[in-house]
Amino acid sequence: MNDKPELQIFGLGGTIAMAPHQEGAGVRPSLTADDLIKAAPELSDIAQIRAETLSLKGSANLSFQEIVSLCERAENCRSDGVIVTQGTDTMEETAFLANLLYEGSAPLVFTGAMRSPTQPGADGRANLLAAALTALSPDAPSVCVVMNDEIHHPYYVTKAHTSNVAAFQSPIRGPIGQVAENTVNFHPVRPAPLFQKPRKFAPVALLSALLDDDGNLFDTILGAGYAGLVVEGFGAGHVSEAIAEKLAVIAKDIPVILSSRVRAGSVFERTYGYRGAEIDLLNKGLVPAGRLSGRKARILLSLILGLGLEDWRAEFVQVIKQV
Ligand code: ASP
Repeated sequence: MNDKPELQIFGLGGTIAMAPHQEGAGVRPSLTADDLIKAAPELSDIAQIRAETLSLKGSANLSFQEIVSLCERAENCRSDGVIVTQGTDTMEETAFLANLLYEGSAPLVFTGAMRSPTQPGADGRANLLAAALTALSPDAPSVCVVMNDEIHHPYYVTKAHTSNVAAFQSPIRGPIGQVAENTVNFHPVRPAPLFQKPRKFAPVALLSALLDDDGNLFDTILGAGYAGLVVEGFGAGHVSEAIAEKLAVIAKDIPVILSSRVRAGSVFERTYGYRGAEIDLLNKGLVPAGRLSGRKARILLSLILGLGLEDWRAEFVQVIKQV
């Protein structure tokens, strides 16, 4: 009898599953989850592996709904740990969404690769092994990202480099754990508040503050069918006076979240008092995103509005307080 723990791998594509193809230049997603485990024979030393390919795409093409289905499959797969292999481009967003929805007891670990399997120094196999060790660790959090032997919390993790194998970072917070010598070590993390899985997500736009921008794009938001807007302000959450006026109008109609285009740190709430700074914007009805990036704030708002929750502000703030 095999008494090794059971590990489920769901493949979604990404660089970890890419290979050269006949139709032209570059690599494309083509390796199945089975191909990935065949190329990482050490996985079977630590677990009984089941692999399933759910899709083979670049991660720019993943949808919120696919992440909802992924969570449901992971909840029902009766494994001791679950790994999701996908493209790194959107991993910080998919892992963040899964962390808001996933109710399973087996840890759900996202991993991928910065280099495709045929490149020198390809990192997919090592990432898969580190992800497997993490997924089977008794101390693993509900959802995390494992890349380059580091374990990151979905709230904080971001892809910070286009090509380096150490591309994934958690600014200020740092990783929540490491893998070394086949051993996993964690620092404790707070549990995430969970949401029901929505039948639909509400469309939420994300716009950035830009120097000397006339803000015409802001004028299109109310007519474009968006249910909410996230604005990435300058610095601690600031926009020009002209855009502040436009945001005041938008916030009368739909929820508007104030985040920062800066990579790390909180949006302020009570420091700067000039027009267009955070105090003015919050008085105009915007809600601060705390330390959440604009991208993640967009996903959270889209989920809350999609669920039609009565007090969207309170729901949003409940998550922000954890981050
Ligand atoms: N460059 C990406 C990756 O790391 C492509 C993608 O996100 O699918 O997988």
